[in-house]
Amino acid sequence: MPGFAWIKNDGISYITLPHWAEQGVNVAFSARSGGVSQAPYNSLNMGLHVDDKISDVIENRRRYLELFSLTPENMVCCEQVHGNSVAVVGKEEQGRGALDYKTSLPGYDAMVCTTPGIMLTTFYADCIPIFLFDPCQRVVAIAHSGWKGTMGRIATETLKVMQKEYNCLPEKTEVFIGPGIGGCCFNIGEELSKQVKEEFTRLNGILNYDSNGCTWDLQLTNRLMLEENGVRPENIFICDLCTACNTEMFFSYRREQGGTGRMAAGIGLNY
Ligand SMILES: [Zn+2]
Repeated sequence: MPGFAWIKNDGISYITLPHWAEQGVNVAFSARSGGVSQAPYNSLNMGLHVDDKISDVIENRRRYLELFSLTPENMVCCEQVHGNSVAVVGKEEQGRGALDYKTSLPGYDAMVCTTPGIMLTTFYADCIPIFLFDPCQRVVAIAHSGWKGTMGRIATETLKVMQKEYNCLPEKTEVFIGPGIGGCCFNIGEELSKQVKEEFTRLNGILNYDSNGCTWDLQLTNRLMLEENGVRPENIFICDLCTACNTEMFFSYRREQGGTGRMAAGIGLNY
């Protein structure tokens, strides 16, 4: 699958996948610049659940959605509890979580949708966004896969819901694994590395060791588990920009010790 591209539009930079955009999919991973939030949320903080001014976040979201001629009424957000539950989203959910965190779909970390005009949106500062698109059934999905979501295999749970609800075939499904904390920066302790080894016995190369201890490559783990479940290697594309290595570009929970904003990962079918 061809690679990602940076787009700069009205002062906002975001990452997209031209290959999907050409097929009528709105897909965007936002970066830091172009918003109105003050430090440490400067400036395009998209997360309502952090300690930023609500009106600033809503203005940031408006700017982001406007790039696709959409409004917050088109956006659907989920609570993001680091679990592995997948919501099927339609017209009735439009606007949930867009202006108020409390109305986010409770208990979910992934969403699947076939309704044009809805922008499924999840928020990030190091966790890995997994975008899915089945061009045959025209189904889109997003999964929030931090280390807990990866342990819970949320990417393959999402694939299964696409299969069950809409007859999507894994071998036809395309996946874009967006920016997140890289294997370069995601140091983990002994206890967790043991759990990772036990959970993913057949996945090679996901843990690496050096003098500082152990690092875990979450993007590779997600890629390999999707391949195990029938997604073709050539249909998976990884954007390997590390959020913790690039804090001028991205918010990083680890690098900025928690006090930071969130990027948005949005996907939706165009009208
Ligand atoms: Zn890094």
